[in-house]
Amino acid sequence: MSETSKHHRIRKVRTHISQNEGLIFEKSRPGSRAFDLPPSDVPEIPVQELLPAALLRTDDLEGMPEVAEPEVVRHYTRISTWNYGTDTGMFPLGSCTMKYNPKFNEWAARLDGFARTHPLAPEVLTQGNLRLIRQLEEELLEITGLAAISLQPAAGAHGEMTGVMMIRAALAARNEPGRKRVLIPDSAHGTNPASAVLCGFSVDTIPSNERGLTDMAVLEKRMDDSVAAIMLTNPNTLGMFEENIEKICALVHERGGYVYMDGANMNAMCGVTRPGDMGIDVMHLNLHKTFSTPHGGGGPGCGPVLVAKGLEPFLPYPVLKQEADGQIRLDYDRPQSIGRVRFFLGNFGMMVRALGYIRAHGPDGLRMATETAVLNANYVRHHLSEAYDMSFDGPILHEVVFSDKRQQQHGVKNADIAKRLIDYGFHPPTMSFPLIAPGAIMIEPTESESREELDLFIDAMKSISAECAEDPELVKSAPHWARLTRLDEVSAARNPVLRWKAGK
Ligand SMILES: *Cc1c(COP(=O)(O)O)cnc(C)c1O
Repeated sequence: MSETSKHHRIRKVRTHISQNEGLIFEKSRPGSRAFDLPPSDVPEIPVQELLPAALLRTDDLEGMPEVAEPEVVRHYTRISTWNYGTDTGMFPLGSCTMKYNPKFNEWAARLDGFARTHPLAPEVLTQGNLRLIRQLEEELLEITGLAAISLQPAAGAHGEMTGVMMIRAALAARNEPGRKRVLIPDSAHGTNPASAVLCGFSVDTIPSNERGLTDMAVLEKRMDDSVAAIMLTNPNTLGMFEENIEKICALVHERGGYVYMDGANMNAMCGVTRPGDMGIDVMHLNLHKTFSTPHGGGGPGCGPVLVAKGLEPFLPYPVLKQEADGQIRLDYDRPQSIGRVRFFLGNFGMMVRALGYIRAHGPDGLRMATETAVLNANYVRHHLSEAYDMSFDGPILHEVVFSDKRQQQHGVKNADIAKRLIDYGFHPPTMSFPLIAPGAIMIEPTESESREELDLFIDAMKSISAECAEDPELVKSAPHWARLTRLDEVSAARNPVLRWKAGK
């Protein structure tokens, strides 16, 4: 495929794409050194005099790579350019909210006073950091309309589990341990049932109606005194707002249950409407989605859990408490607390970034970010709706779910389309999720993308759709321009090679 061909939009892929990069071990040459020091002019002290014998290594250290400094630097610099991230282009993964992360926040999170505070430093020496946490708590309470918060959970799913643990504790305090069922719409995120089951509840799935929303008739039938809570994702994983949310809350409350809202999609509501005003009892946020802090690769996250007044006593301890003298203290005297869910106070660096994002935007800016994210998703939907089908056809907010139904007529599946997008220089969207949308292609552009970037993406998707009809094999064998093409996914899962061995 030449660059002047019909795919003129395909981005120029890196020049050294054809060169694969060996491991640092494979570059080893005996005697190569990354540094040279002059001979020491102070007497050497045998290591045995410095360390207890039990800590000394007895065998020889073998197999370490011996490489010169430029080779080390170039090796790691080169492989760092293999990454695809929000710093290199659009990252359309639906449900993941892959926003661009402002560099200003990275700078702030690395300030010595934040990054180098010892986690065991006493409160009297960490008042600035505690104040920052308190300020973030206040911002998030204002944004959600809820009464109290814990920033401890380290991710969205962890926040969910913390929330369900609080519901369990509240039911125990009400002496109603018999409430064992949690209702979960089938459009919820997959972590919701997992969280409920981990806390000892059984899951009762509520089907979506033909519009992709919770079926109220079914909900009414299933709601009784054995229900502990409903857990719903709002907007749901189809990107649709639960328009009956107030009715759902009223119905569940009337029969003594709690309403848990998965708020990972808060980037579709922030500054426009508030879960607390809808009647939500517990929710979590994903700072690493809505408030821009980086995520992925299992890196640190922050999934604050927020509650309405009645559930406040059950929050994890310690909670921050402002004393009359203005000092902030950590309050452990919380007899009904579910306990600690994370060591220290959670992932503090994420909190610095999130507060930076919130303060830099201000209330109007946050609302504008939400509106732009919704506009961008609807722009993509509008321009791709001629090329791709949708499983559910209602109004959408921050993300759009297409299906591969039309392309399947040519034998092309969603995964093929995803792999072909790599040739066009884009990260693939989320595939085959949510499960209620067969052949799902789930796209969330977020507010980060300019119209030019969205147009490039739309062009690529349209071009691939045309290829599906004209030359399906081209799509089915993609990617053609990537360093590795199709992997044997079964072998990769069943017989993974996880360690490099010399001589192999
Ligand atoms: C991402 C996401 C989660 C899980 O959050 P993690 O931080 O990955 O644990 C839960 N629910 C929804 C709707 C999400 O998008």
